[in-house]
Amino acid sequence: MIQTDDMEFAPRVISPESTAEDGDGEITLRPQTLHEYIGQERVKENLAIYIKASKLRGEPLDHVLLYGPPGLGKTTLSAIIAHELGVNLRVTTGPAIEKPGDLVSLLTSLSDNDVLFIDEIHRLSRAVEEILYPALEDRVIDIIIGKGPSARSIRMDLKPFTLIGATTRAGQLSAPLRDRFGVVQRLELYNKKQLTDIVRRSAMILDIPCTADGAGEIAGRARGTPRIANRLLKRVRDFADVMGDGKITQEIADMALGRLEIDRLGLDSLDRRMLEMIIKGYGGGPVGLETLASAIGEEAITIEDVCEPYLMQLGFIGRTPRGRCATKLAYEHLGYRFHDDGDGGQLKL
Ligand code: ADP
Repeated sequence: MIQTDDMEFAPRVISPESTAEDGDGEITLRPQTLHEYIGQERVKENLAIYIKASKLRGEPLDHVLLYGPPGLGKTTLSAIIAHELGVNLRVTTGPAIEKPGDLVSLLTSLSDNDVLFIDEIHRLSRAVEEILYPALEDRVIDIIIGKGPSARSIRMDLKPFTLIGATTRAGQLSAPLRDRFGVVQRLELYNKKQLTDIVRRSAMILDIPCTADGAGEIAGRARGTPRIANRLLKRVRDFADVMGDGKITQEIADMALGRLEIDRLGLDSLDRRMLEMIIKGYGGGPVGLETLASAIGEEAITIEDVCEPYLMQLGFIGRTPRGRCATKLAYEHLGYRFHDDGDGGQLKL
């Protein structure tokens, strides 16, 4: 992750991607068991059953695909699964497995029933994916030895293992890869109550005095994302230490988050710029993603993966085949009057 002092390129405080600033703190804050893992009740219930069944049978857990926006706890959950199964966890990412040989050495180094976690699994190269198919299905890998006419293929057996793949973009996974996961679980954005519990738990671990209202204020602005909630908690602590008596209250949290330009609903300047552009620049939409991205000088992928899931959850934007539209709620939040002309909103001058 790039970290820089130049504000223009500094990561957004509310970016759900992990930044260097999250650092080791993220490890301390990670829950270790399903019981400690807050929210995602349906996913937890299902996993608890699959884990129990696999332990009863002494077999590896079926391969698991976890998908959903960044920062929702996919990596955390995979460590919990390995912990609950009582096996080792190997962690890597799609782009880090450059050559088929990298994957072969990973797979052959696993012990019985170990968990291999591949983050950003949609970014595996085609050649690497092809090694993965027989490994997942039949627990074998085919290695080519030599070159040219004398090349031959050797089949190697693997130990039983579980692959956990994580992705923010399930749609980009190739169909043959997706079909090889027996368990597919989608993680949802967290509600305010769950995020308040997460903030309170983190404050306790980090020894930060924090009132229930203070935790609630942070939770309400964390865009449904635990990683952002934990990051805001640390930023607000700085304000509490310097400008208060070290305790996070609702007042301190409100003041600190206001200074960070994060509004009551967790929108930052990028979200507001995007909504303003749809409303003022395109009469409320529809406007295509690429057009919108270039109009505000942001990458389309950032808008799609980072801004949109939360703005859609708030009901601020709608996606139509012709592009994005701002809804009445978005107009009202930004202080504009909404005029419904049957094709999105219009700004009344
Ligand atoms: P992802 O892999 O989906 O990007 P992570 O698993 O790295 O997300 O989670 C980011 C941070 O959020 C972790 O450090 C963890 O402390 C916190 N976190 C995520 N999910 C939960 C949860 N359900 N309960 C408590 N903390 C969580």
